[in-house]
Amino acid sequence: MTESREAALLEKVPHQLFIGGQWRDATGGRTLEVYDPATGASIKTIANASVEDAAAAMDAAADTQESWARTAPRVRGEILRRAFDLLQERADEFALLMTLEMGKPLAEARGEVGYGGEFLRWFSEEAVRIAGRYGSNPEGTGRMIVTQMPVGPSYLITPWNFPLAMATRKIAPALAAGCTAIVKPAELTPLTTLYFAKLLQEVGLPDGVLGVLTTSTSAAVSAPIIADPRLRKLSFTGSTPVGVSLLKQAADGVLRTSMELGGNAPFLVFEDADLDKAVEGALQAKFRNIGQACTAANRFIVHESVADEFARRVTERVAAMRVGRGTEEGVTIGPLINDTAVDKAVSLVQDAVQRGATVLTGGSRVAGAGSFYQPTVVTGVAAGSDILREEIFGPVLSIVTFTDEADAVAKANDTEYGLVGYVFTRDFARGQRLTETLQTGMMGLNVGVLSNAAAPFGGVKQSGIGREGGLEGIHEYLSTKYVLTPDP
Ligand code: NAD
Repeated sequence: MTESREAALLEKVPHQLFIGGQWRDATGGRTLEVYDPATGASIKTIANASVEDAAAAMDAAADTQESWARTAPRVRGEILRRAFDLLQERADEFALLMTLEMGKPLAEARGEVGYGGEFLRWFSEEAVRIAGRYGSNPEGTGRMIVTQMPVGPSYLITPWNFPLAMATRKIAPALAAGCTAIVKPAELTPLTTLYFAKLLQEVGLPDGVLGVLTTSTSAAVSAPIIADPRLRKLSFTGSTPVGVSLLKQAADGVLRTSMELGGNAPFLVFEDADLDKAVEGALQAKFRNIGQACTAANRFIVHESVADEFARRVTERVAAMRVGRGTEEGVTIGPLINDTAVDKAVSLVQDAVQRGATVLTGGSRVAGAGSFYQPTVVTGVAAGSDILREEIFGPVLSIVTFTDEADAVAKANDTEYGLVGYVFTRDFARGQRLTETLQTGMMGLNVGVLSNAAAPFGGVKQSGIGREGGLEGIHEYLSTKYVLTPDP
């Protein structure tokens, strides 16, 4: 019964590229396989775009730009709003699809439909609020008009960890602003984006406004698009090394860029924290999405007086977590995206242990089919351990201690990343100080999850450039134009 439901859903998902409003095979008939990370089995064969397909997608985006920019903001907004409504109707399908291609537990996938959908609703409302200003120049000799124009054709590259939300977080503001777009999902999880493009087509998105390129050769397919002078914007979410390489390519065309890159989030627990809340926050900040979030708490930095109690309480909870396929009832820890991700968790924990850390629970890969790693807690992690420097991207909670606030802040900031920090304290003045001393683009004060379509998401340092969501999100796709007219 369940398997037939999965098969029926997979059958409905397009397997072709979406270019100029048409579904078509890749040039030369190239294909790629999409796998279920819980079983390792192929679940669908889809088109594998080449550079010729990239050129066709670029042509469509460029040819459609003018008419889409002229489409009334209300019309653009209403298309996004209808997409939001239809997504709610299909929430169960989108959730299951994400669980199948990415592995996250179904309940979390449903949560992502909620979160990802909100970008459609938020930007449907922002489309009609794009505004400028008008006034005299200081000399009183002319009128200054400041207006906002769509940047132009945009190339959107998304990662595999949030297949729907990372797509809607870019597509919705781009379309609301009047930009056409080409989206290139991660090759590991392309099905959600294909199914979402079909939904947009159904709610009346004009042909050519959005293209979808699925490919196993991302670098080769992306390079000519980024080099094309008709492209005006590159928005990327993914790892810092790939972001750096894309920024270099974008520099040649002086492209507008948004970069949502890696993180190494500190999670600070002060001696006065409400430990019950800190433990709840820790579990959310660490184990949501099986630890595979750029916002995942990577380093638990806990005051020495409460570290043992904090470790004891989180360990009790983590040891009770159920590992399995995300479609199974009660599972909270699904598979990692692939075996390479499991190998990374193995090596980070081994390195920490070799340098003196203690494993309180977990600490091993799970034998058998699929890419599973046990939910794990390690404590007493020595300075310099790889696990403190690299993104874990897995279900491993690693604890170090601090002595006072200055020590906590120094440890928290000791990373090239600066996406998000979490702070648990009852001292409001301290919380306020940390909003200024933590070198991050976002901070959760006594909360473990803070993403919201109404909030500006983004980082500082090597975590990126730009913000997605909130009032700021649409400005990533708008450019300011200033006009002067003589005194009337
Ligand atoms: P990745 O950098 O390997 O890939 C991201 C996307 O870029 C994928 O679509 C991939 O196919 C594509 N890509 C890879 N190499 C490319 C190239 N040379 N040219 C063009 N495209 C290329 O990252 P990932 O493994 O998919 O995602 C995990 C990373 O994403 C983590 O570092 C995580 O922190 C980060 N992330 C950041 C945010 C954020 O908002 N800051 C959100 C989610 C994930």
